[in-house]
Order: sequence, then structure tokens, then C-alpha cells
Amino acid sequence: MNTIALYGNYAPETAEQVKKRVLELHARFSFFEAESDIFRINEQAGIKPVTVHPDTLFVLFHALAYGAETRGAFDITTGAANRLWRDAIRCAKMPSDSALAEGCGRNGLSDLVLDETESTAFLRRKGMQIDLGGIAKGYAADQALQILKKNKVRHALLNFGETVIALGREQKIGIQHPYQKNGQSIAEVSVKNKAVVTSGTYERGFFSQGRRYHHILNPRTGCPADSGLLSVTLVGQSAMELDALATGLCVLGRNAGLPLLEKRGIEAVFIDNEGEIRITPGLQGKFLLRRN
Ligand code: ADP
Ligand code: MG
Repeated sequence: MNTIALYGNYAPETAEQVKKRVLELHARFSFFEAESDIFRINEQAGIKPVTVHPDTLFVLFHALAYGAETRGAFDITTGAANRLWRDAIRCAKMPSDSALAEGCGRNGLSDLVLDETESTAFLRRKGMQIDLGGIAKGYAADQALQILKKNKVRHALLNFGETVIALGREQKIGIQHPYQKNGQSIAEVSVKNKAVVTSGTYERGFFSQGRRYHHILNPRTGCPADSGLLSVTLVGQSAMELDALATGLCVLGRNAGLPLLEKRGIEAVFIDNEGEIRITPGLQGKFLLRRN
């Protein structure tokens, strides 16, 4: 559930404006809704470029950049494989070999062609699909923050479910316990005017023959990532950037991910499947484990 807590004096229409903007973005980015930009791009894959809204073009451009930066670990063109695993997770059953052969290997960032002047997006190969599930929420949160600032909100907590922005005073943000029910924190970070975004492989998944399958895919294989990380929490400025990189780092793993974070001045909390919790040096003094 999305919530925003607003404190102090601010324009009364603020919350309504945020809601409107978030719904508008949802309608633009949805994988399922037939009118959405993403649906239309997917529908016209291998056929022709599609005119899209500047919001969509902006997110697609950045998604490609994060894709390059993570060496393909963050890949919005894994839509076909995402769909396959979404169904598998819903039924808690492994996809068949033929479904795997059909759904995996259709991705490829170089086959998404964007034209800024024409404001179009084109997937070169038929059957390719874009899925913005790993980045859209972050962009929506950044956009919501802009509205809060425009309306002179000085202190707020925006929570889009594992995508949080703390505006104004220092606030404590809980990090979900990977093995406990939703809402139970394993730790907290204190932040001020920062976004905190978590991607977790624990969120949605199932066990089959002693292995766990979940919703964050390794684009190289089209199958759930197995970097050993249960979750990555990132702390920084842009929720969109953190959303994409948190998803990408679940695939890349901690060692490969750290240099990217350092370059961008992003702090992180990594929780791995051996129960180890590691933080980056910038979180010293701002991180607290919770005793349950
Ligand atoms: P959430 O917090 O909603 O679980 P995440 O930011 O963790 O979202 O991203 C997971 C979603 O991103 C998946 O449900 C899927 O739609 C999409 N996705 C899965 N694997 C990748 C990947 N390697 N690169 C980009 N998007 C991905
Ligand atoms: Mg993400």
C-alpha cells in the first residue's frame, strides 16, 4: 500500500495531486493495461516504433543507462521471462522446459531503440517485452516528492512499499526482515532528505526440490538470480536510480555492485542467504539492528 504522511502546513490539495500523478504514471507504465505506453510498445515489437509520453521516454532512457552500468544485470527487456516466472510463482510450480525455452532469451537491451526527437520507442524483435516493474515505483516516488516540494511541504514520509523518501527531519526507516512477515524490520537506518529503496528476492517466490525461485531474474539466464543476496537496501538521492540499481544488484551480488555504488555516492545494506548483514561505511552510526 502507498502512504504519505505530511506534517506541518502545506497546501490542502497536495495529497490529491500526488495521488493523481501516481495513477497517471501507473496508467502509462503498466505492463497489463492495453492503453499504456509499455503495452503498446510490447504489442508493436518487431513491427514499428510507438509514440510515447515524455515520462515514458525519460524512464526508458535511464533504464538503458542503468542496464549498461550494471552490465546487463538490470534489464527492462526481460518482460517475457518475467511473465513466465510471475505465473510460476503464482502456481508455485516450475515452468515447463518448453515455456522456459519460449520465454527466456528474448531480452536484449541493444534491441530497444529510443528516438528522442520523435519521442518514440521500438523493440526490434517480435516477442520481446518491456517490464518496468524494477524502476517505475522509484520514478513515481521521485515525482511525488516534486509535488510535495512544490506545495511547500517541509516534512514528510512517503512510503510506496520498500520505496521510501524521507523529507525534512531525520527519520528512521525500517528494513524488512527477509524471513518474517511483512512489516517486521530486521534493522533501521536513520536518514534525512534521502530515498531508501529495498529489492528483495524473499518477496515473492516458491520452493521446488530444495531450491527457491523468486521474481528477480538474471537476464543472462532468464531464471531467478542466485547471487546469494536476500535483499539490497540502497540509500541515496533519486528513488528511480536506487530502485533500478537495487534490482540490478540483487543479480550482480555485493562484490560486483560495490564499485557502482561508490561511484554514485550511494550507501547500502546487504543481507545474504547466510544471515550476514553488511553495510557500507557511510551508514556507520546511522544503522541499528533491531532485536526481535
Ligand atoms: P518490487 O520491489 O516491486 O519487488 P523490484 O524493484 O525489486 O520490485 O523489481 C522486481 C521487478 O522488476 C520484477 O517483478 C520484474 O517486474 C522486474 N525485474 C525482474 N528482474 C529484473 C531485472 N534483472 N532487471 C530489471 N527488471 C527486473
Ligand atoms: Mg527495483
